[in-house]
Amino acid sequence: MARGNQGEPHDWVTRAADDAIRHAQQQYGEDLGDHVITCASGASPSGPIHLGNLREFITPHFVAEEIRRRGIPVRHLHSWDDYDRFRKVPAGVDPAWAEHIGRPLSAVPDPWECHESWAEHFKAPLRAALAEMGVEMQEISQSEQYRAGAYTEQVLHAIRNRDVIEEVLAKHRTKKAEPAPENEQEAAALADSVAEEDDEPVGGGDLARFPYKPYCRQCGRDTVEITAYDDETTDLAYTCSSCGFTGVTNVATEHEGKLVWKVDWPMRWAYEGVDFEPGGLDHSTPGSSYTVGKELVKRVFGFRAPSYVAYAFVGFAGVQKMSSSAGGVPTAADALKILEAPILRWLYVRRQPKQAFNIDFGAEVVRLYDEWDALGRKATDPDRRDAQVLAFERASATSSAGPLPTPRVVAPFRLLSSVADVTAGSAELISRIVRDVGHEHTSVQDLEPRLSRAMAWVSEYVPAEDRTNVRAEPATDRLAALSEDEEIWLRQLLDRLPDHLELEPTTELIYGVPKLARGLGLDDAPTDEVKQDQKDFFRLLYQLLVDAERGPRLPTLFLALGAARVRELLTPR
Ligand SMILES: [Zn+2]
Repeated sequence: MARGNQGEPHDWVTRAADDAIRHAQQQYGEDLGDHVITCASGASPSGPIHLGNLREFITPHFVAEEIRRRGIPVRHLHSWDDYDRFRKVPAGVDPAWAEHIGRPLSAVPDPWECHESWAEHFKAPLRAALAEMGVEMQEISQSEQYRAGAYTEQVLHAIRNRDVIEEVLAKHRTKKAEPAPENEQEAAALADSVAEEDDEPVGGGDLARFPYKPYCRQCGRDTVEITAYDDETTDLAYTCSSCGFTGVTNVATEHEGKLVWKVDWPMRWAYEGVDFEPGGLDHSTPGSSYTVGKELVKRVFGFRAPSYVAYAFVGFAGVQKMSSSAGGVPTAADALKILEAPILRWLYVRRQPKQAFNIDFGAEVVRLYDEWDALGRKATDPDRRDAQVLAFERASATSSAGPLPTPRVVAPFRLLSSVADVTAGSAELISRIVRDVGHEHTSVQDLEPRLSRAMAWVSEYVPAEDRTNVRAEPATDRLAALSEDEEIWLRQLLDRLPDHLELEPTTELIYGVPKLARGLGLDDAPTDEVKQDQKDFFRLLYQLLVDAERGPRLPTLFLALGAARVRELLTPR
């Protein structure tokens, strides 16, 4: 097996790639030759694809990248389950859309009128986000596949074997235990995940558990009851409870329906030759689709179930005030507005899929960037290459896109967001201040893509009470009530404040003023008395500049405001 040498660090991606390759070898023999390994994902474009669902796409992406890195041909195949039925009209959509319930997602019109169907409306933003993240996949539309008759042979085979299928389904049906969602968010996520709806009877008597279901030829809904099936002619008769239509579809020649989900999934494993596919934990419990599919694919389709990893839930924090397209549940596009693409990738690759985690859009974002920058510095030292650095490498570049965009000049997110906060100004203004603080660069572009993310984060995710509000007018009352010490400090400061501020002398001056007031030099070590004075002085500065007891680092604040503004707000009248 082509594998990294033993000294190489490894992680869950390494192991999942090993398993995918082993699956192919068990199926096709030890020497795979030019055989292309298939890492698959699948999703129903029934609504916004949130950051929890992103695991479905990004997990096979990383595994395929690892296999490609080893020089083995591989593809990431993504199936859009757009032939699934439209199940409910979400809040915010015209209730008239209820008439489309039961129709394929690809046949429901787009209420926002920007795409050709409901399904396309929700595929488009995810596609854009994935492209930004360097995730390339070969997409398949189940609507197109079924309607073109691509699976007809498999459908007929499943129908011929419907007794075996029912035996397997019945066995697991009794075992089924519903996992209780841990919270509301999770319940919503589960409701949106791939439909588990179709274990309902589709006809009467012997046909109750027929594995194939047509959409009504007259109204397009799946509200049909199968009344007869002829194994010789493959004629399937049905009546529709929505429109009253009674008709016959020929399964071999007319492609008007689909296999029920629990049969559809294993059929496609065999049809596409899937070697690896992840699934949500809800698909991995007893009686769930993977467990059932694993047995069905072997007994009915003569294929070994793909190697599999179950992934856990992804939660969110700090999103109270966001106006997400997903109604409060953030999508990849939302995350990419504040996180560089490699950082978003890193959140997923650095953890085992079975580990649940939260993505925090609040204050944690600052720490996340710090952690990422520190890891980036570590990654430059070949002697320190370990699993963490491996995760950094997987997050930072892809085989086809190469390195994903990162700033040419890495200014700390902490600084960029703080300056954006204080100035509430343009990118050019922020760039100038950041240069004064010592991060030399030639254009705003050097700070991108981070700068605009810092600006977006401050305006969209920092709560109003945590924002810095620079005083518009001097605090005349406070300035009229200065103590003797305070007056001396401000005079010392203003006497020495140059017109153009730079970080180091400004820092030295702010910390030095209380020393000067006690007869020490700027360079002298602070005494305990000076340290107490510094605290009092800094609090005074915050009161006068930003009407608060604390705030961003004072030197940064001074540079962001500029000498003239500082002078205006600090001069006693
Ligand atoms: Zn109908």
